[in-house]
Amino acid sequence: MSRANLPALGLTIPIRQGLPISGNVCLSARQGLPLCLVLCGFSLVAMTWHRSCYVMWCGNQAANSLEKPMTTHLSPISSNVKTGPIPVTTSSAETCPDACPLKVGGCYAKSGPLAMHWNKVSNNERGASLEILAKQIRAFPRGQVWRHNQAGDLPGIGDDINADELQTIVNANKGRRGFTYTHKPCETNEQNREAVKAANADGFTINLSANNLAHADRLASLQAGPVVSMVPSGTANTFYTPQGRKGIVCPAQQRDDITCADCQLCQRSNRSVIIGFRAHGTSKRKAEAIATA
Ligand code: SF4
Repeated sequence: MSRANLPALGLTIPIRQGLPISGNVCLSARQGLPLCLVLCGFSLVAMTWHRSCYVMWCGNQAANSLEKPMTTHLSPISSNVKTGPIPVTTSSAETCPDACPLKVGGCYAKSGPLAMHWNKVSNNERGASLEILAKQIRAFPRGQVWRHNQAGDLPGIGDDINADELQTIVNANKGRRGFTYTHKPCETNEQNREAVKAANADGFTINLSANNLAHADRLASLQAGPVVSMVPSGTANTFYTPQGRKGIVCPAQQRDDITCADCQLCQRSNRSVIIGFRAHGTSKRKAEAIATA
């Protein structure tokens, strides 16, 4: 339990760590802001906060400093059949951006054993802080290929990338060969775009995730990093985007005997070829609809 200062009232109150201070968790969020201010502002046992309420009482900086609930779990040797036996992390669900169309349905990580594991990470039952994650990464042998986020996204709540926290991962990765993907918006958010570009230039590969091939063209034109895209299930192994960029379907979807540990294409930050992931799994229909939009 951490404590929050309420300078307007001269109070210090307990805040439960790890819970996002967003609209749907405030004690009186359903009552509207005026009542929310009264209840949150004067309750000595407030556990969670409406963000605007908290900002009102404590200021933006204080609110931002509390918004660090990211927890990341490291599996040193993944049992994920697709990645193969490499280190793989899972980040808590509040890192997922609203910009990802799979957030409301269709995400492969929301079913099966991975979903159970991800829930535990998101509920702080598993995993650790960013600082511990950085130590774990630095303990990898030099040249180690590892995948960040079999579920979850880059540091930062929702659509925003926390560039400082991302830099912590980038620094820890020096000499190792980490890679990941992001659905956080880079077309419309320049800070996100610059953070991704800098990480790719600094040896930590971040693939920009596209919803379909037209989107892939737009992301590729940003030149912030390599691009992957959802593609319809019937897509040929080699394909082309509307603007003529070459793509290939993930080799692990083409052959059962290939894993990320063997392939490592997603780790190559200077790659121009777009990697397509065919819609599959329990939410195939939703993913298919997004990929063909
Ligand atoms: S393209 Fe290669 S590295 Fe990327 S997800 Fe597929 S198998 Fe893994």
